[in-house]
Amino acid sequence: MPENTSNKTDVVVLGAGIVGVSAAHAARQRGMSVMLVDRREPGSETSYGNAGIISSGSIFPLNQPSLFGNLPKYLSNRHAALRWDVGWALKNLGWIARFLASARTSQTKPRAQALHGLIKASLKLHREWIVQAGAGNRIRETGWLKAWRSDNLAAAKADQAALTEYGIKSELLDRQAISALEPNILPVYSVGLLHTETASVDSPGNVTKAYARMFAGSGGEVRHSEIKSIMQDGDGWRVVLSDGEIRARHVVVALGPWSADLLRPLGYRVPLATERGYHREFQPNAARKLLRPIYDAENAFLMTPMEQGIRVTSGVELTDRDAPSSYEQLDTVVPLARGVAEFGEPVGEIWRGARPTLPDSLPMIGPAPRHHGLWLAFGNQHIGFTTGPATGEAIAAMIAGAEPGFDISAFSPRRYI
Ligand SMILES: Cc1cc2nc3c(=O)[nH]c(=O)nc-3n(C[C@H](O)[C@H](O)[C@H](O)COP(=O)(O)OP(=O)(O)OC[C@H]3O[C@@H](n4cnc5c(N)ncnc54)[C@H](O)[C@@H]3O)c2cc1C
Repeated sequence: MPENTSNKTDVVVLGAGIVGVSAAHAARQRGMSVMLVDRREPGSETSYGNAGIISSGSIFPLNQPSLFGNLPKYLSNRHAALRWDVGWALKNLGWIARFLASARTSQTKPRAQALHGLIKASLKLHREWIVQAGAGNRIRETGWLKAWRSDNLAAAKADQAALTEYGIKSELLDRQAISALEPNILPVYSVGLLHTETASVDSPGNVTKAYARMFAGSGGEVRHSEIKSIMQDGDGWRVVLSDGEIRARHVVVALGPWSADLLRPLGYRVPLATERGYHREFQPNAARKLLRPIYDAENAFLMTPMEQGIRVTSGVELTDRDAPSSYEQLDTVVPLARGVAEFGEPVGEIWRGARPTLPDSLPMIGPAPRHHGLWLAFGNQHIGFTTGPATGEAIAAMIAGAEPGFDISAFSPRRYI
């Protein structure tokens, strides 16, 4: 990037979730002047409420061939893994058709390869940044356990074989091995697959905040404002806020599930859907600690030990981003979670968030096709906490005119806009 002789900020990053904070930090590390804008504290939305898994093995998105086998149970709209709103579905038939088309076998391998590259780069950054940010005590290298109540060894073996193809390590566990690994849970699981290279954190929101503090500590600026619009301004950009304006040479849109709204006035119709999800936290039993995130494969819920308690997260709810909450999925799975781990009364309120998802379940990472200096970094679906750092680093590299350290061709915004 040529030297900045104007009075504009080099880069303004819109959105201080894990993706925006990472982009801001990476750009600052490259010596650019950077402002990070959010209406809330960093890491307060989707990057707060997720399950905190930094997942080596989440290279196969929801829309993979097995989805077709599961469709009958999902269409019933009774399974905890997926609920969908009929009105939303009727308005989004095009998105659904493209989502299903991406689930074909021929479409799955290239996407898994692309996500594998993104995840690998991101895991490395997380492990470095979390220490540099003074939050190294929050990461746990205890893996992630996917567990089956039925004797479904075949499913676990199939998962393991698929991961092995990409060099991702895992361990098959029987009932005894699961009890040895998690001595404090009830022995409800017959088979498990431990993703050994996966880490998790005890508060994704606080990790995101720690990265934001690291950014600010290195001279980056964090501004709390509502972002109203963006418009081209000479050779740069003007960002209109509720309380003023910012001029910058480059704008990064990292607004997670809100990203498409800001781009519409510029003529970009981004097919971004929101896969909503919920969590509730419960007082842990100090004498019977849960040691790692456990995903209950048949009942589609996850429970994980967090700073405030045991966090139980629900499956996917396909509906409008801002539609009223429905607690059915959570109500179904919380009693099932209680049958595995001992925990007490709820802590705090039920949380709702929205995974931002494009039809092929790959994020958009790159320049906007028709506007110089506009960069897109969103759509990280179920694995945005994992993939935020490398998404941000790739954007910073491109702004600096450098090559990202992994293949980003599959993430080009041009595939949709
Ligand atoms: C239930 C659930 C469990 C999950 N579990 C995991 C997991 O274990 N591991 C994993 O890797 N991922 C997980 N995810 C996915 C992950 O949380 C998301 O992909 C990721 O947090 C997206 O980050 P983001 O920075 O793109 O968006 P966000 O974190 O939502 O950040 C966007 C920011 O933009 C701001 N913003 C929006 N509009 C405006 C505006 N007009 N003005 C000012 N600011 C604005 C918001 O305030 C927000 O801070 C999970 C998601 C859910 C819902």
